[in-house]
Amino acid sequence: MTQPWQWDEPVWRGHVDRVRAGRTLKPDSWPGGARVAVAISFDADHETISLRDNDVSPGKLAQGEYGSRAGVPRILALLAGFGVPATFFVPAVSALLHPADIEAFVAGGHEVAAHGWIHERNTELDAEAELDLTGRACDTLERLAGARPLGIRTPSWDFSASTLDVIRELGLRYDSSLMADDDPYELLADGAPTGVVELPVEWIRDDVPYFMLGRNYTSPRAVLEIWRDEFDAARAEGGLFQLTMHPHVIGHRSRLVVLRDLLTHIASHDDVWFATHAAVAEAVRT
Ligand SMILES: [Zn+2]
Repeated sequence: MTQPWQWDEPVWRGHVDRVRAGRTLKPDSWPGGARVAVAISFDADHETISLRDNDVSPGKLAQGEYGSRAGVPRILALLAGFGVPATFFVPAVSALLHPADIEAFVAGGHEVAAHGWIHERNTELDAEAELDLTGRACDTLERLAGARPLGIRTPSWDFSASTLDVIRELGLRYDSSLMADDDPYELLADGAPTGVVELPVEWIRDDVPYFMLGRNYTSPRAVLEIWRDEFDAARAEGGLFQLTMHPHVIGHRSRLVVLRDLLTHIASHDDVWFATHAAVAEAVRT
């Protein structure tokens, strides 16, 4: 096997160009003349994180179940109080386990979007299996939510060599799994524009690294400071503030305080456009 330091330029350049950031889609101004767009999202993984790792112990599954049972009702009440729409990225198995949640998301005016079948690791799948699972996931969400998903966040933000082809094949209009910018951009496949909108994510704007990884628990109020600074800078630049949370992580009593205080801060400005990921993708596309 050829080692990376032995690659010719076309090889390393080819890897980089396979999926890459194209033109920025940051608009001159957001709908309604807003200065900043705010896209709040929740990955409703619940039990699927344990299931996809073949960890079927009731203890681990209960930790995920908390997300639906305790987290989701609190989150929906908080969003309703602020009148803020959000996007829920839901693995199909999670949606099948909690169909009433899907109904509640739709009833609350929120978006339901794709997040894999069982939170599978797509980098371990061949192209055919990835297309099959993602396609069945979209079919399942369409049946439960009453509308076909317009976008996807890949499980764990993983991207295989086939993922962009799968997204295009299924006609999804946006992805929210990659990190090449703070603001929306168009995805390129081997240097060619795809028309697929990327709404970039970042671990900085995710609850998991602060609260779950290695049990290295961070004070929730320290996280509030980081996310508030991210929003303030996004507003100063006229860009997008995108946030990823998980009901089984942020939905705990001491942590939801962070989201409440963050939304209070954001809503204190009169030049903010709160929107679902699908709405942001459509706004920047045109
Ligand atoms: Zn997830």
